[in-house]
Amino acid sequence: SPILMWFRRDLRLGDHEALSAAVAAGHPVIPVFIYDELTETLGAAPKMRLGLSVSDLAKSLQEKGSRLILRRGEALTVLRDLIAETGAGAVYWSRMYDPQTRERDTKVKTALKEDGLEAESFTGHVLFEPWTVETKTGGFYKVYTPMWKSVRDNDVPDALPTPATIPVPDSWPASDDMEEWQMSAAMQRGADILASHCTVGETAASHRLGAFIANHVANYVKNRDLPAVDGTSGLSENLTYGEISPRKCWHAGWRALHDGKGDAETFLKELVWREFAYHLAYHTPRITTGNWKEDWDSFPWNTDERLAEVKAWKQGRTGIRFVDAAMREMYVTGRMHNRGRMIVASYLTKHLLCHWKIGLDWFADCLIDWDPCSNAMGWQWSAGSGPDATPYFRVFNPVTQLDKFDKDRAYVKKWIAEGTKTPSATALSYYDMIPLSWGMTAQDRYPDPIVPADVGRKRALDAYQDRGF
Ligand code: FAD
Repeated sequence: SPILMWFRRDLRLGDHEALSAAVAAGHPVIPVFIYDELTETLGAAPKMRLGLSVSDLAKSLQEKGSRLILRRGEALTVLRDLIAETGAGAVYWSRMYDPQTRERDTKVKTALKEDGLEAESFTGHVLFEPWTVETKTGGFYKVYTPMWKSVRDNDVPDALPTPATIPVPDSWPASDDMEEWQMSAAMQRGADILASHCTVGETAASHRLGAFIANHVANYVKNRDLPAVDGTSGLSENLTYGEISPRKCWHAGWRALHDGKGDAETFLKELVWREFAYHLAYHTPRITTGNWKEDWDSFPWNTDERLAEVKAWKQGRTGIRFVDAAMREMYVTGRMHNRGRMIVASYLTKHLLCHWKIGLDWFADCLIDWDPCSNAMGWQWSAGSGPDATPYFRVFNPVTQLDKFDKDRAYVKKWIAEGTKTPSATALSYYDMIPLSWGMTAQDRYPDPIVPADVGRKRALDAYQDRGF
């Protein structure tokens, strides 16, 4: 009887444990993608980007003589329907670690097993399963550096090859039409602009890794902090949808290190930050919804999304150039440089004293590399409420940071049009993306800071100290 291969955030054919196991079982394989309630609630940019990835996977499967069956509905109901229609005896998938997905998957697995079916989950989204990495005294790592030291020399299995063929069923069940799902509908304006900044699919991801290793990893340590420089891998977008496996990236990093490119170690370390995020979410699911350090629950954050400061932050008109450039970069490209992410998160939570959840939600709407675990860890790290977080007194100064990391203002010029005679095309593309109701034009005067860097810093430190930190 056929095996249903339930694709989720593992949208590739190479180095795919679940798919390879399904093929090896020697039964027909029916690849499925389900638009369920977790898909429905995705933010605008992640949903659109997911749609592009699903289409690309469908094409790859077609090239192999297989198909991707698309269905919409509650995951368990859809799977049971497909089982009834096809006589499938098993469902395979790759594990995920955020609490919402785990809740759904546990329910699905339990129910299918009760139905007498085989329901099996496989590794693939991480290098190290969260229950396999423990501190010397037992328990999971709450601090990054010791975790890195404990895993860096671990054996990571070689990447699996892409199956040469995928056995097909005698007849295919019906499939939805992707167009009808309208996955870019929430983008309103600018879906095409956003799409032009995406690098979609397994082949593109693989090229991206190759180009990064060939051209950029040797100077990664210096360049990775410069937002105007193309110095990082850009692979977060592909890793989050599983268009490339983390172990393929890991092995490429190790090979570069052995080839004498010492900076590759820092790239490997970044991959372990990603692992750290999943491990934390697995062991302490509350990280995605509430303060990881619970004593932060009494901190008097602003939680009102309607505040003028919040609006200015989202719209990239705080009057603080580094913040505004980064917020606009995200709105147009669906990505934000890591330095930018740290600066805008620090500014929102410290200078503006706003709850990190406001930022978390906005990122979840705008990022094409949105990942529930990395996003939550990043925000709580920035706010100070998370594990191994930046201490409260480390308030990034967005003005001096600009002098340090964007000395010639190339990043600012790339994203801010106001006040320049010849704005860059990228800065102007912002106005093609934003809702007309924001009422912004390139001819506006660039705003004065809504909260100047020094005033905000003092206000933040006072607020923290008042709480007895
Ligand atoms: P590279 O520098 O090339 O790094 C290689 C890979 O390592 C990345 O692709 C990514 O998978 C991983 N990585 C690097 N830095 C981190 C990190 N700090 N945490 C976790 N993984 C990391 N990353 C996301 O993938 N999705 C998010 O939703 C996300 N939200 C963030 C929110 C905030 C407030 C902050 C401070 C960081 C967030 N990050 C998130 C982490 C980081 O900014 C991005 O992973 C990175 O900028 C991606 O660019 P890159 O692929 O070129 O990274």
